[in-house]
Amino acid sequence: MATFKLLLLPGDGIGPEISVEVEKLLAWLGKQGIASFEIERGLVGGCAYDAHGKAISEGDMALALAADAVLFGAVGGPKWDAVPYDVRPEAGLLRLRKDLGLFANLRPAICYPALADASSLKRDLVEGLDILIVRELTGGVYFGEPKEIVTLENGQQRAVDTQLYTTGEIERITRVAFELAKARRNKVSSAEKRNVMKSGVLWNRVVTRIGKEEYPDVELEHVLADNCAMQLVRWPKQYDVIVTDNLFGDILSDVAAMLTGSLGMLPSASLGAEDPTTGKRKALYEPVHGSAPDIAGKALANPIAMIGSVAMALRYSFGLGAAADLVEKAVANVLGQGIRTRDIADKGQNTVSTSEMGDALLREVQALAG
Ligand code: NAD
Repeated sequence: MATFKLLLLPGDGIGPEISVEVEKLLAWLGKQGIASFEIERGLVGGCAYDAHGKAISEGDMALALAADAVLFGAVGGPKWDAVPYDVRPEAGLLRLRKDLGLFANLRPAICYPALADASSLKRDLVEGLDILIVRELTGGVYFGEPKEIVTLENGQQRAVDTQLYTTGEIERITRVAFELAKARRNKVSSAEKRNVMKSGVLWNRVVTRIGKEEYPDVELEHVLADNCAMQLVRWPKQYDVIVTDNLFGDILSDVAAMLTGSLGMLPSASLGAEDPTTGKRKALYEPVHGSAPDIAGKALANPIAMIGSVAMALRYSFGLGAAADLVEKAVANVLGQGIRTRDIADKGQNTVSTSEMGDALLREVQALAG
C-alpha cells in the first residue's frame, strides 16, 4: 500500500472544524487499505502569528516542502486585522504558493442536481454542470514589474501594473490544462484578450502551438476573456477546461463559482512543476472560502469544500482517481438525500451540524465502497 506524506494546516476560524471531518475520512481510507497517510499538523495564518509571530514558521514551511500534498483550511479573522502587513494571516498562504512554486490553480465548478435551485441561474442552465478553470497563479499583472504609484511633476499621480508573460510560463500552464482535458471531455478553451493586449497575442500563439504539436486530439478553442465571462452566465455547459491567465482567471473562476450555489461547496487545488526525477508535483489543496469568523465555533460550517479538496488531492497528487470518484459520488448522494448544512438549506429545511455532515459523508462513502 502506498504511503503519502500530508501536511494538514487547518488555520483559523472554521478551518480547524472542517479539518476534523477530513481527518475522519483520511483515517477511514487508511483503515480500508486504500492508501496510508503520514499526517503532520502545523499552524498557518493568525494562529501561527500568535504562536510564532509570523504567518507560517520555518519548521512548518520545511514540512510543506517535504510533503506530497498540503491540505489547507482557511486563514484570517478580525483578531488579526491590525497585525503588521508582512505577517498578516494571508502572508502564510502567499509564502506557501511562492516557495512551493504553485503556478497552476484548478477550480472545478460542479453543480449538483440537488442544489441546482441555489444557483443564480435557471436550473436547466446549471444542472449537471462540471467545468474546470485552470488559472495561471504566479505570473501576470499581479507580479509584473514595474508595479508602482509615482508622483508626476504636475502633482498628479500615475499608477502602473505590468502584465507580463514569458513563453515558458504559458507553455507549462497550457500543458496542465491539456493533460486535465484528456482525462475529462477532451476540450480546452483558452481565454485572453489578444485583440487589445500583446500578452494575449503571445498567449494565443503559444497555446495554439502546444495544442497542435503535443495534443492534436484535444479540441482547442480560443475565446476573448470578456466574451468568456458572458458565455459562463449564458450557457456554461459549453465548456470543459478553461485555461487563462492570473487576472482573468481570478475573475472568471469567481463567476463560475457562483453558478454552483454556495461558497461552502467549492474545492481547489494549486499545483507546481513536475519533478523530472520523481514525476511528482508540489501541491496544495484548499476550500475556496475563507475562515468565516461569523460562524466559527458554532458547528455551522459546511465541510464539503474541504472534503472536496481532499478528493482533488486523491486524484491529482496520489493517483487514486477511484477513491476521489467515491468521495464525490458520496457528496452528490448525501445532498440527494436532503442532508444540508445551514448555508445550503432551503427555507424551513432541517439542517445538520458540521460533524453530522462529515459523518453522513463518511457513511455514504462506506456504503458506496460496499
Ligand atoms: P468567507 O469565505 O470566510 O465568508 C463569506 C460568507 O460565506 C460568510 O457569511 C461565511 O459564513 C460563509 N461561508 C464561508 N465558508 C463557509 C462554509 N464552509 N460553510 C458555511 N458558510 C460558509 O469570506 P469573508 O467573510 O470575506 O472573509 C473572512 C476571513 O477569511 C477574512 O479574514 C478573510 O481575509 C479571510 N479569507 C481567507 C481566505 C483563505 O484562507 N484562502 C479566503 C478568503 C477570505
